[in-house]
Amino acid sequence: MATVTVEKMTKRFGDVVAVRDLDLHVEDREFMVFLGPSGCGKTTTLRSIAGLEKPEAGTIRIGDRVVNNLSPAVRDIAMVFQFYALYPHKTAFENIAFPLQARNVPKDEIRRRVIEVARVLHIEHLLERRPRQLSGGEQQRVALGRAMVRRPQVFLMDEPLTNLDAKLRAEMRAELKRLQKDLNATTIYVTHDQVEAMSMGDRIAVMKLGQIEQVGTPDEVYNHPSTLFVAGFVGSPAMNFLPAEYVDGANPTLHVGGGAFSLDVRPEWAQAIRQKATGNTFTFGIRSEDIALYTEPGPDRIPSEVYVMEPLGDVNLFDLKVGEHIIKAKTLPNFRLRIGDSVWMKLDPDKLHLFDMQTERAIL
Ligand code: ATP
Repeated sequence: MATVTVEKMTKRFGDVVAVRDLDLHVEDREFMVFLGPSGCGKTTTLRSIAGLEKPEAGTIRIGDRVVNNLSPAVRDIAMVFQFYALYPHKTAFENIAFPLQARNVPKDEIRRRVIEVARVLHIEHLLERRPRQLSGGEQQRVALGRAMVRRPQVFLMDEPLTNLDAKLRAEMRAELKRLQKDLNATTIYVTHDQVEAMSMGDRIAVMKLGQIEQVGTPDEVYNHPSTLFVAGFVGSPAMNFLPAEYVDGANPTLHVGGGAFSLDVRPEWAQAIRQKATGNTFTFGIRSEDIALYTEPGPDRIPSEVYVMEPLGDVNLFDLKVGEHIIKAKTLPNFRLRIGDSVWMKLDPDKLHLFDMQTERAIL
């Protein structure tokens, strides 16, 4: 297996800069996920690593080898796409065996390796079927088998679960993650689905407009987003954002939501603001699960009104009206209120986020 290193890579399509000056290092055996909205350059980055696109600038290394000028066939990678494109007239066995046949591997060896891969994927009993006799998930596993059988150094996967129904997708998510660990295979996986990214990745590279905004573990990107974009993209429901103004002095204060409420600013926050901020205006952020709700007033409780309640079964999601703003808060399902009821919010002081209004970078 191998590392993948990309340095200062730029790829243009005419006037469109699909990937801009991108740096990335994927560790040996790591499961790296590229996450970002449509058009942010995930696929182009992956295809450049595969050798299917030729970047205008930058260096791509697989292991210690610079691969920029190598054809896809000799890069020792395997790709799995959203559309798995199995050969319809070949059986599952023949589909998986195909890359080895193309390399003139002896028949016995082919048989041994196909069966070994099929065992890992739990498709041994399906090897004689043709693709149309297989379910979507089974076809996907055959496609994975075809990629695995060559034992490449690196797997590159582009939204491989997109075409599956929700249940199968959740199942395959877990299976793929398990498989990647069993195979010890360096893997780069493209998705725009943040649940997939959070649940599968050792690390996630969050992309926007051809650049990486943040690379981190799921815990890091979720709990310590380094930019407003990452904070807003990762998490469902999205993080609550409100405009905020900082007033320094003996008692530094943050006025949030145009005066909807104010928060005392801890000395270490005040110091961070003085050191990092470009001005005194910010975007304040808090996740819905970091807000506790009470039916009575109390210290540090912020008054609000129930705008709507969504009972989701395992949790209740409240839209709360605070001044002119709506804030989403999550509670246990037994906490129930009606539209128009008064309710008090308490924000977890260790879970507040603050982003510079101008640079959109995290301050806290
Ligand atoms: P999606 O999730 O929709 O697949 P993505 O993040 O993978 O999006 P890319 O497919 O890498 O994004 O595209 C990045 C940018 O480059 C987009 O603006 C896209 O329109 C453009 N682009 C990609 N391929 C080509 C091409 N062959 N010709 C022209 N423009 C392209």
